[in-house]
Amino acid sequence: MSSALKSSESKAQPVRGTRDLLGEEKRRQSYVTAQAQQASALFGCEEIETPLFEETGVFYRLGESSDIVTKETYTFEDRGGSSLTLRPEGTAPVARALISNGLTQTLPAKFFYAGPMFRYERPQKGRYRQFTQVGVEIFGLNSYHGDIETIQIAENFLERLGLRAQVSLELNSLGDAASREAYREKLVTYFTRYQNDLSEDSRHRLKQNPLRILDSKDEGDRKLLKDAPLYGDSLTVEARSFFDQVLKTLENLGIQYRHNPYLVRGLDYYCHTAFEYVSTDLGAQGTVLAGGRYDGLVKNLGGPEVSGVGWAAGVDRLALLLKGDFTAPRPVVILPMGDAAEAKSFEIANLLRAQNTVTEILYGGNIGKRLKKATKANAHTALIIGDDDLAQNQAQVRILDRGTEEAVAFDKLAAYIKDITS
Ligand code: ATP
Ligand code: MG
Repeated sequence: MSSALKSSESKAQPVRGTRDLLGEEKRRQSYVTAQAQQASALFGCEEIETPLFEETGVFYRLGESSDIVTKETYTFEDRGGSSLTLRPEGTAPVARALISNGLTQTLPAKFFYAGPMFRYERPQKGRYRQFTQVGVEIFGLNSYHGDIETIQIAENFLERLGLRAQVSLELNSLGDAASREAYREKLVTYFTRYQNDLSEDSRHRLKQNPLRILDSKDEGDRKLLKDAPLYGDSLTVEARSFFDQVLKTLENLGIQYRHNPYLVRGLDYYCHTAFEYVSTDLGAQGTVLAGGRYDGLVKNLGGPEVSGVGWAAGVDRLALLLKGDFTAPRPVVILPMGDAAEAKSFEIANLLRAQNTVTEILYGGNIGKRLKKATKANAHTALIIGDDDLAQNQAQVRILDRGTEEAVAFDKLAAYIKDITS
């Protein structure tokens, strides 16, 4: 029997590392996404939706080696023989879209996106194989202005969620190309001395992309990192002044930060500011939002030299941190006791919905059964319409929490409900 057949016979479960989002968890996530959309809109970001898969080359370009592209992607050949990759992140697709849509002529361009990302990694709390990111990308703001604006959008977003006090902003500078070259050399010299103590992954990184070692989660690597040369000591004068301007502006704006000299990005197109918002409440999954400047990316994808800076946040992780009540809104339920009453209840329900009252009709069964359903639906009020009521153009309005009941004329119902729920 083929493995494809076997897996189709397995129990109805989602694929490992994926899950169905519903109920309260889905409501939390939708709320997080809406807040990011609103925060970014205030800064002039346009929403963009790119496809869920791209040509593999969008994520993997010659000479690059990152954990994402080497280990974490879902890459496959389609029936036409093209190598495609489910997007593991949003930045490269948005940069690709900037080029595809000829928008490099009308800069700056500011984008917001929200959607699922796919990475083949070890699933645990706050780490999934399909997860949702919201993100912001700003193209064409070359100086520190872009870095400040993206951080301000992140601040606005986290404030809205009521999470700003729970997370800390860490940042570092990766400098310009010359800084990176100087630093790479120092790092290679240092780690070559300890290469036998490095993890296998990091020994590989030492040859492919030594900067990526700074990102290692391996205990042994982390110990060696304590004495490794720091990026900051390799910054050029220009790069340092860029960073100072960022820090000074953050201070002027009253934005709290911590300079973390170990914070880096492994890909070559990252430069200058790199930042992360970290929570202590999610263990190893503590980073809820990460961003930085990536001036080389658009060129790397075949476009002109256009600067870029942005961030992406993990919606699943933020939703886990979110406090507050995310129960569904309590509905009004209508209980039409008979065919004629049913017809009428459609009309009444529409009148209520027209004033934004959540309204459901409970069909069938005796009144006791239906009232049980009403309680289960967490309804606050039941409108019972029997044959006698229908004849008198009225409903029995039962306020379920209080157990009170009174007759209200159909044409007064909407106002009555508005009154008791406001
Ligand atoms: P981590 O160090 O936790 O693996 P990362 O550096 O891979 O994170 P980024 O690529 O910077 O993460 O993605 C931005 C944000 O997306 C992360 O800060 C995190 O909140 C979220 N994120 C990344 N990978 C996952 C995942 N597998 N499941 C859920 N959220 C994720
Ligand atoms: Mg990761």
